[in-house]
Amino acid sequence: MTSKPFGPIPPEFRDLAALPWLDQATPAYVYDFGIVAARIARLRAALPAGVAVHYAIKANPFAPLLRAIAPLVDGLDVASAGELVRAADVMAAGAISFAGPGKRDFELEAAISAGATINLESEGEAVRALALGDRLGVRPRLAVRVNPDHELRGSGMKMGGRASPFGVDAARVPALVRMLLEAGAEWRGFHIFAGSQSLDTQAVIETQAATVALALRLTQEAGQAPPLVNLGGGFGIPYFPGDLPLDIEAIGAALGETLARFPGPGFAIELGRWLVGEAGVYLARVVDRKESQGETFLVVEGGLNHHLAATGNFGTVVRRNYPVAVAHRMQDAPEEVVTIVGPLCTPLDRLADRVALPRAEPGDVIAIFASGAYGATASPSAFLGHPPVRETLVPHLHD
Ligand SMILES: *Cc1c(COP(=O)(O)O)cnc(C)c1O
Repeated sequence: MTSKPFGPIPPEFRDLAALPWLDQATPAYVYDFGIVAARIARLRAALPAGVAVHYAIKANPFAPLLRAIAPLVDGLDVASAGELVRAADVMAAGAISFAGPGKRDFELEAAISAGATINLESEGEAVRALALGDRLGVRPRLAVRVNPDHELRGSGMKMGGRASPFGVDAARVPALVRMLLEAGAEWRGFHIFAGSQSLDTQAVIETQAATVALALRLTQEAGQAPPLVNLGGGFGIPYFPGDLPLDIEAIGAALGETLARFPGPGFAIELGRWLVGEAGVYLARVVDRKESQGETFLVVEGGLNHHLAATGNFGTVVRRNYPVAVAHRMQDAPEEVVTIVGPLCTPLDRLADRVALPRAEPGDVIAIFASGAYGATASPSAFLGHPPVRETLVPHLHD
């Protein structure tokens, strides 16, 4: 039977068999902090001096991971009051910003009281935040999220250049900034996020240049320089056959040239997936091997209830195979073509479709790589009532 390809296994995970944690209880996500720390160091080395690095915690808010990342970044970006609580546990509130549409009054209050920056998504939210600040007797720290005129090309999720629930249309931003200043708020600047999961280096470079140009234009129209311009992120990681990693060094060099033409405010970049995505692996044991109409199925102990994205049901148009392996046999040649499914009673619960792997028996561990972002918390864990997935942070693979 012909097999379908699967995505590239991150080089740090070439040999899982040597790792002591392979024996641990499954199903589980394992996050290797050494990989995250190396990503952050590489990003810092590539970026122009003075560009702040923020972590968008919705990519992976696992508390031990957050605690380990916090000292290595300059800020945390959150998207709910629940995430704000987690972030405030490990980072001073002044370095936390809160984006997302539909912030309820209790969420705005929590952010204002704590002293976190609110990235305003609309004029209506601005009015509510100002009124709540008055009532609390606290001067709110407010940034304006801009719905840019441009979008991030080659991005899995586009967030600019069109009608959007996110941010305020660029043309209306200067008036809103003036209103905030007149109302006595502490204006924190602009937040401009144009898309997610782009693997197109040139597109990221062009989007960043367009974002900086837009910030400059808005600054002139608003008549006041912003303290901080958050350039968003959108850096993708390889998941599928043929995917190539971004050239971070080229992106950093180009941003340096762009910023040389725009002195003044501070800049920040906020990333989720690129910092943590390749550092995680999902491990699930084979429960059953079965044949049906000439095909072999491996049924494993968790599926879309733990890892929705790997089943192709979290924002992908065409289902393709994540990088996958039989964990203790990564050095062995493929022996058979198998489809790997989870235990849920739905045909959507397919972790790998017709992949060529060494033979795996019940009890063996299947590993799905590139699973460190949008995994456990982005999956419908209550669906069908199976046990939740474990999560573990390990200091470094080879320690
Ligand atoms: C989700 C999100 C991010 C992180 O996106 P990644 O693609 O994971 O890097 C950054 N900023 C905002 C405002 C977001 O909503």
